[in-house]
Formats: sequence, C-alpha cells, structure tokens
Amino acid sequence: MAKTKIGILGAGYAGLLALKVLQSKAKDVEITLIDRNSYHNEATDYHEVAAGSVNADKITYQISDVVKPGITNFIQATVTKIDKEAKTVEIEGHEPMTFDYLIVALGFRSETFGIKGATEFALPMDDVESSEAVYKHFIAKLEDYRTSKNPDNLKVLIAGAGFTGMELIGAMAENKAKYAKIAGVTPDDIELTCIDAAPSLLPMFPSDLADYAVKRLAKRGAKVFTSRGINEVKDGVVVAKNMETNEIIEFSAGTIIWTTGVSGSDVIANSGIEARRNRVMVTSQLKDPENDKVYIIGDVAAVMDAESGRPYPTTAQIALVMGHVAAMNIIADMNGQEGEDFKYVSQGTVCSLGNTDAIGVLGNGTKVKGYVASALKKIIMNKSLWETGGVKEMLAKGRFDLYH
Ligand code: NAD
Repeated sequence: MAKTKIGILGAGYAGLLALKVLQSKAKDVEITLIDRNSYHNEATDYHEVAAGSVNADKITYQISDVVKPGITNFIQATVTKIDKEAKTVEIEGHEPMTFDYLIVALGFRSETFGIKGATEFALPMDDVESSEAVYKHFIAKLEDYRTSKNPDNLKVLIAGAGFTGMELIGAMAENKAKYAKIAGVTPDDIELTCIDAAPSLLPMFPSDLADYAVKRLAKRGAKVFTSRGINEVKDGVVVAKNMETNEIIEFSAGTIIWTTGVSGSDVIANSGIEARRNRVMVTSQLKDPENDKVYIIGDVAAVMDAESGRPYPTTAQIALVMGHVAAMNIIADMNGQEGEDFKYVSQGTVCSLGNTDAIGVLGNGTKVKGYVASALKKIIMNKSLWETGGVKEMLAKGRFDLYH
C-alpha cells in the first residue's frame, strides 16, 4: 500500500512540534519537511541576538538533529506557492511537491503597515540574519563614533513597544556598559528609546506590571514613550505624532529598529489564500476552511478563542499546541476518526526586561515580576526547546542560570 504523503512547510515551533508527533505516532507515512534554513531558530529570542547578549548559535539548532531518516525527507529550500486544489507545493530549485495532507507553518515577517521609509531606513527583526544585522549595524555606529563623534551614533530608537520592542530595549539596557566601551564613552551616553502609538503598554498585562516595566527600564536609562504614532521614517530620523497634543516630534538615531508588529508569511498571499495580514482564519480543528486536508498553524493562522471572542495571539506557546493538534488530527483523519478542536489554556505569559528581570502573569492570574518572572521565562524557553528538539537541544541551548 502506498504511504500517506504529509508535507510540512516551515520548521519553526509549530512545524517541528507537528513533525515530532507525526514521526512518533503516525503509521505508514512519508513526511517531507521544507524550510529555507538548515536550522530551527527560537524566534522568541531574536531580541537577544539583536542586543548582542547571545550569539545566533545559542538560539538555533540543526533541523537534521530532529529528522528521522526513513520517515522524513528534509528539503532545505524556499516555498513559493501552495496550490490547494492540485495538492502541490512549488519550491525554488526543486520539482513541485505533492501531498495527501499539508501542514502550513511558515511563520511571520515584520510588518511596516506601509509607513513611508520604514523598509528603507529601519531595521527589521524577521529572522536570525536580520537580528544579527541589527547588532552589527549598531556596533559599526559605535565604532564610528570614536572618530566621527556623531552623537546620533550612540542613539537607538525602537519603533513599537510590543513584546518584541520591550524585550529588546530590556536586553539592550543591560548591555549599555559593553556598548559604551566600544564607543569610548560612559554608559549614560548611550541613549535607548522605544516609542509606541498606543496610550498604554502591553495590554495583555495588568497596568501595574506594565508600569513596573517602564520604571525598571528608566532606572537603567532606557526611555519608553507611549502615544507616539510613527508617520514616517527618514535616514536616521523617525517622525511621530504625539497622539495627545497632535505635535509632530522627530527622533534622531543612528540605529532605528522596527518592531511594530508582524504578518504571516507572504506565501499565503502569493498562493491566493484568503487571509488578513497573511493569517488565515482556520476551523476549530486548524484546517483551511476550503480544504480539509490542509492544516494552517502558527503565525500564518488565526483561530477564534470562543471565550474572548477574539483570535488567539501569535505566540510560541500557542504555536506548539497548534502543532500537536494538527498532527493528532491528521492521524485521526487517516484512521477515519473525528479530530479534536484546538484549545489553549495559558500556563503563563512573560515579557523579559533583560536576563534577570521580567514581568509575567501565571495561568491562574498570579502576577510575577523581577527575577522570579525572569526564571519563569527561562523555564518556558527550556520547555519549548525540549518540546521541539528533545533533551539534547534543551541541554545544549537551554537557560539554566535561574538564580541571580
Ligand atoms: P505587537 O503587535 O505585539 O506590538 C507592536 C506594537 O507596535 C504595538 O504596541 C503597537 O501599538 C505599536 N505600533 C504599531 N504601529 C505603530 C506606529 N505606527 N507607531 C508607533 N507604534 C506602533 O508586535 P511584536 O512585539 O512584534 O510581537 C509580534 C507577536 O509575537 C505578538 O503576537 C507577540 O505577542 C508575540 N511575541 C510574544 C513574545 C512572548 O510571549 N514573550 C515575545 C515576542 C513576540
């Protein structure tokens, strides 16, 4: 009997978790995993690479480490288009791949919302390479300062104070002394600023925790401003409107980093799949509404949370659960059984503010901050490494400095 062909597009949190479940539980399957990189990366840790806190190697591991030969064929290539009706996937430099079941887990890209100059003059944090590029850019500016004495070289402006922006400014604030040494200045000369259009920060946390985050960052000399809506980016300048006074303000900085939100992979739009910001509203079993053999998960999916009446946010923890549910539903379908609905019970959400500080809310609503929250963040990171890569990757790349 011919084996069932399962394609998995993307080796992020969602794709690799689905792979792991299918490799261990599915019978008579032939899996093809496609990713443009040879490695999996922990997308929640890009800010640490951009800040220079860790090397890229610390947040990546080889996909081949988790691929079971004989069951899975890994192709390192870029997916360009999905044809759901023909059940094929177009791949750069390869023959199209055919499938019986497909899991689309192609992840996110940075979103500029069409703001003038953002693509040209601000640096995104889309992947490991662009995060490394942020750090290299800033270091080059600091080195240049030694001769040019251009004050803007010492300034970083982070556009958007969501999770990514706040985690990034927290990590950078911790490294001020290191940056100062490179430029030959004092840590107080390094200016870190993060601005956001919203009147209040991090709406998923109680306001006292968000206030704590801003105060802690201020103590380390990092400024966060709310109600500053960015209209335009020029070479070395961010133009924003004070949403309370309508005053136009210009922030000059040698390094401008763009963290105003994300969209799903462009492969969704290129494939003519109906979506909003490349996120497809999937069924409760994570299927494409128009093709029940195609599962769409992770940052390219939007799934309704019946309790809140809003789609679940895009987080690594949710992507992992989606990967599990999609794989189990394929196995159920192959066995002629009914699949399960996606449900997510949060065990906690944490936003780091550097290596030793964070804010968080546990699944039962308990608020945590400081080193307790930062230890919790590391436990969540280790758990995700263990879930996708197993014990080996967790021991090699995990964070075990839980006490400070
Ligand atoms: P986000 O959508 O969470 O935050 C973007 C921020 O940019 C918002 O606060 C928004 O008000 C602001 N913004 C948008 N347009 C703006 C403009 N023109 N001017 C000024 N501010 C503007 O995006 P993100 O931080 O990139 O995160 C992306 C996703 O990844 C989110 O779903 C987030 O929850 C998730 N994430 C989670 C974690 C974690 O769980 N620790 C870490 C990183 C990212």
